[in-house]
Amino acid sequence: MTVLIAGAGIAGLSLGLTLHQIGIPFRIFEAVREVKPLGVGINLQPTAVRELYELGLEDLLDEVGLPTQDYGFYTRTGKKIWSEPRGRAAGYHWPQYSVHRGLFQVALHDALVARAGADCIVTGARAVGYENTPDGVTLQLETADGPRTEAGDLLIAADGIHSALRAQMYPTEGAPIWGGAVLWRGNTRARPFLTGASMALAGNDWQRFVSYPITRPDADGMATINWIAELKYDADAAWKKEDWNRRANLDEFLPLFEGWTFDWLDVPDLIRRAETVYEYPMVDRDPVPTWLDGRVALIGDAAHATYPVGSNGASQAIVDARVLGAMMQTQGATQAALTAYNDELCGPVSKVVLANRGSGPDAIMQMVEDRCEGDFSRMDAVMSEAEKAEHAAKYKALAGLSIDALNAQPPRITV
Ligand SMILES: Cc1cc2nc3c(=O)[nH]c(=O)nc-3n(C[C@H](O)[C@H](O)[C@H](O)COP(=O)(O)OP(=O)(O)OC[C@H]3O[C@@H](n4cnc5c(N)ncnc54)[C@H](O)[C@@H]3O)c2cc1C
Repeated sequence: MTVLIAGAGIAGLSLGLTLHQIGIPFRIFEAVREVKPLGVGINLQPTAVRELYELGLEDLLDEVGLPTQDYGFYTRTGKKIWSEPRGRAAGYHWPQYSVHRGLFQVALHDALVARAGADCIVTGARAVGYENTPDGVTLQLETADGPRTEAGDLLIAADGIHSALRAQMYPTEGAPIWGGAVLWRGNTRARPFLTGASMALAGNDWQRFVSYPITRPDADGMATINWIAELKYDADAAWKKEDWNRRANLDEFLPLFEGWTFDWLDVPDLIRRAETVYEYPMVDRDPVPTWLDGRVALIGDAAHATYPVGSNGASQAIVDARVLGAMMQTQGATQAALTAYNDELCGPVSKVVLANRGSGPDAIMQMVEDRCEGDFSRMDAVMSEAEKAEHAAKYKALAGLSIDALNAQPPRITV
């Protein structure tokens, strides 16, 4: 009984750790030769942090990240619209974490190798296709030594937004869809702002800036601040192919943020002093009716690539791995387990992907701007506290982030 996993990203590694925890043999095949700490900051919601704690990874999280204290929306002039506590401060039994994506991925990789041995991950092995057979499934790989085929009971495609295995499942789908926004992402050493562990979003649907620290401050009070500058263009314009690691040209966006100096954050200074800036056209994929084809299942971005709003790309990848693991714990490495996983998640997660196209919880910034026509001196009069709270609660319920529901839910996996 072996589960084959394509991709050692956050989804594939979380699944490997879960299968090791419940004693189901598995093997991960990763395209790159070496897992390196690529990317910038991401947020992990309490739904995902809980699962990591239940994997015994509490210390690992603390080494690569910082618990997020609060989350707030601000106008493009830096005035507060709404802020709310996050993680434990909000009443969850688990924190929310801001982490460096690459350091987190490498830490998951190292934890898995320490627990299950280096042989459980084969690097330099790119998944290119699969075949359902009468008694299992085969995975076709390309390696430096030529083509190779592996056989297993199940195959889990955790090979990200450009999934080769999803492309076989949905051959006419094509490239990810660009909705018109371009993100420039960077990390800068600076003093933390507001509570010192705040996640802040400022602007409107057309131009916004998101920032949060991903480390604790050093002896000089300086932390690594993760930031994302976003501009929206006409979605019909051609843009360069998405690549998480393309180096950016500051002239393309910095001039538009020059005036964004608030009393709590100096946006142009953060941009100017960044170590490296990456450019990324914001893309997602249309939801599909099922993540299954026989003994093959999609998880993580391969299943539900979404806009990075609402902090649920990586969080959902971890939850996918745990739901799938829970189904395999009760039903073995069987097609029935895949069906139960798909039944629980495919429909609800597809709704979140579509909600994120409408900016998810961030839509409140444009609502405020529209109502006061940019005259932010009148901002307090345009939206009641009750309406702001209702807007925030609606997305949390949709994304499965309700505090009481998560706290009351028993562990998915017990060993
Ligand atoms: C290099 C990189 C940088 C990123 N940076 C950010 C960021 O800064 N902010 C953010 O919000 N999100 C970022 N993401 C996306 C974010 O990590 C994912 O949305 C989320 O973690 C879901 O994880 P995943 O494991 O499904 O996909 P991914 O994290 O994309 O992992 C997929 C893994 O599969 C491997 N792979 C791809 N194709 C194949 C194949 N054919 N065969 C075998 N292996 C394959 C990839 O090398 C990768 O290790 C980044 C992803 C990558 C790969």
